[in-house]
Amino acid sequence: MRQGPIITRLTVAIAAMVTAVLATSSAHAVPRGEERVWREVFLPNGTITEMYLPAERPAAVRSRDLAAAATANVSALQDTGSVDSRFDLVFVGDGYTASELGTYRQHAQAKWNEIAATAPWSKYRSYVNVWLVEVISAQSGVDNDPTQGAARSTALDMYFWCGGTEHLLCLNEAKAQQYAAQAPAVDAIVAIGNSGKYGGAGYPSLSTASGANASSGQIAIHELGHSVGGLADEYFKTGTTYGGAEPAEPNVTRSPSGSKWGAYLGRPTPDGGVIGAFQGGYYHEHGIYRPSQDSLMRSLGKPFNSIGLDVMDRAIGSKISGGTQACAGYASARTGSLAAGGSAYQPDGTYYYATAAGQHRACLDGPPGTNLNVYLQKWSGSAWQTVASGTTTGPDETLSYQGTSGYYIFLIQAVSGSGAYTLAYTTP
Ligand SMILES: [Zn+2]
Repeated sequence: MRQGPIITRLTVAIAAMVTAVLATSSAHAVPRGEERVWREVFLPNGTITEMYLPAERPAAVRSRDLAAAATANVSALQDTGSVDSRFDLVFVGDGYTASELGTYRQHAQAKWNEIAATAPWSKYRSYVNVWLVEVISAQSGVDNDPTQGAARSTALDMYFWCGGTEHLLCLNEAKAQQYAAQAPAVDAIVAIGNSGKYGGAGYPSLSTASGANASSGQIAIHELGHSVGGLADEYFKTGTTYGGAEPAEPNVTRSPSGSKWGAYLGRPTPDGGVIGAFQGGYYHEHGIYRPSQDSLMRSLGKPFNSIGLDVMDRAIGSKISGGTQACAGYASARTGSLAAGGSAYQPDGTYYYATAAGQHRACLDGPPGTNLNVYLQKWSGSAWQTVASGTTTGPDETLSYQGTSGYYIFLIQAVSGSGAYTLAYTTP
């Protein structure tokens, strides 16, 4: 007996035409325990829709299953630093036997490479710990692959044809979480199956993807937009009208003016065109607006729009920023080390460009007993000019500056003492 998902919404990837038989209700939220659940449907061309499919009864996880789940080695695809100051991404695998751990590692590395190549993950790739929980299955492969009826004994009970839909790749979520918890820290979980068949699914705590299918990684990247950034879906079903309250998510609004993201209006967005208020999103065609024409939260293979990008940037960056309360809540962070009397430029020894006017904020966290200062400088056209600074006699500084668009750079100086520092910052 399969153990089904215990959630109200799943993601499904399908390669064939979908005949979507949808309920007439416009309510997206389905109470826990209902017989049917909304499931995200990914088409190979990148289109995302939703289907209203029969729910599966969650099965209780037996205590001996949990105990078994507590025994797995963990290795690092990359270990970039203390979990207190890093984003920790955890892979769990299913359908990999003891002799296939090398294959599992290759599949996970490929998925991480794909995630790390997309913004804003690309910016933080050297500040993310990627853990590989070496889950060993008794048999190779997952259930119902390549066709229905193929049964295998695997650690996470992963299977295609979830909810009767071929490319919906489900698993035992509780077991996956238990294995993931073996990692030193968990900020997000990606579960990969030993299969080349296109498929994936999104759970509240994790996403699944076929380990050997190159297209399936996009599903995980979309799902991380939900789980890490708290972003809403921006696709919709034609003929529906939203009648609910203003959504809490940052990338959908009832306001036809798009005032929710007013500072972004008219600015170029990575998915093309400029930010505005485009009708349709949050599963409804009317009465709701999204920031851009066609972002990753609407179509696979697209970048995040500017709003999604900045939200993700802050969410990932908040796990990396400094590791101290004083410097929490900044969008980005850099670390470095200074000798007494030394200085350094950030980010990464160079400048950055602010495309719009707005506030620049920085927080410097230095070693106890030192005197570190931070300066924000702006390019005048012919020279760098200091426009803000933090120059107390202690190791920690903050600064804030309201500026026009242009080139900026941070200068950090060790007036006395030496050691490692973290510079956390947010720019327009
Ligand atoms: Zn989604």
